[in-house]
Amino acid sequence: MSKGRIIKALSGFYYVEDGNNVIQCRARGKFRKDEIKPLVGDFVEYVDGYIMKLLPRKNFLIRPPICNIDQALIVSSSREPDFSSVLLDKFLLVIEHLKIEPIIVISKIDLENKDINRYIEDYRKAGYMVYEISSKDNQGINEIKAVFKNKVTVITGQSGVGKSSLLNALDINLNLETNNISKSLGRGKHTTRHVELIKMYDGYIGDTPGFSSLELDITPESLAVAYHDFEEYSQECKFRGCLHDSEPSCAVKEAVARGMVSKERYEHYLMNLQEVKKKEERK
Ligand code: GDP
Ligand code: ZN
Repeated sequence: MSKGRIIKALSGFYYVEDGNNVIQCRARGKFRKDEIKPLVGDFVEYVDGYIMKLLPRKNFLIRPPICNIDQALIVSSSREPDFSSVLLDKFLLVIEHLKIEPIIVISKIDLENKDINRYIEDYRKAGYMVYEISSKDNQGINEIKAVFKNKVTVITGQSGVGKSSLLNALDINLNLETNNISKSLGRGKHTTRHVELIKMYDGYIGDTPGFSSLELDITPESLAVAYHDFEEYSQECKFRGCLHDSEPSCAVKEAVARGMVSKERYEHYLMNLQEVKKKEERK
């Protein structure tokens, strides 16, 4: 039995990369009946052109259907559209909840925003990697190439922040056009013809940018866990399972008061907590 990784799925075939070879495989009959179908990104065992077994996944996305993603570049523009820490915090939350390492990319730094440096400092202090780029005048583009090495990366962010421009600046050709066409035809789902990991800068990039949903389908408890900058303090909270809201002796709230945790991030956390709690009640 050989081992490899699915890097492409097309018309019922899976393309398994094993060292320098790519082997066209079919899934063994059993997968068609099972709930779990092979996904692009899966590590598999295969023999004679048949995938026999999927190895455990560390994470997966539904759209695009890719698994074992190492990291997500979350692109947020300095301006046009205006930088929104509310939105960035929501992207961070969703990505971290999916167990994907987030990397923040602040785009369009050629456009002036006097507050952006303060934000960048805050996010770095919270432990995030932050890149500053301008695809327009090529700032920071070379520096960012190194992050792709040996990783599977997806790129996400609000529309208009400069994702396609970044990919162009990096000389990466993804299925962007296909997506635009499918949007204008209003056909959504059915137009994704195939899924592929594109080899680039010694790593892989998911061929569809972003994912559609920022819906928080998450429990209040896992919400608190997804804020990794709270973690160091939350162990000191008086109550186990403290949601850092109105509980007494909450070490996270104290850390916010002492300026150790960003007040803004904490406020966004409370906003998300309300949203998640409301959803729970409706269930
Ligand atoms: P996407 O929707 O995230 O893929 O964003 P696009 O790459 O299509 O960019 C949206 C708009 O922002 C386009 O008009 C780009 O020309 C512009 N844009 C992209 N990157 C930059 C940049 O670094 N600086 C400036 N000033 N504009 C940019
Ligand atoms: Zn607490």
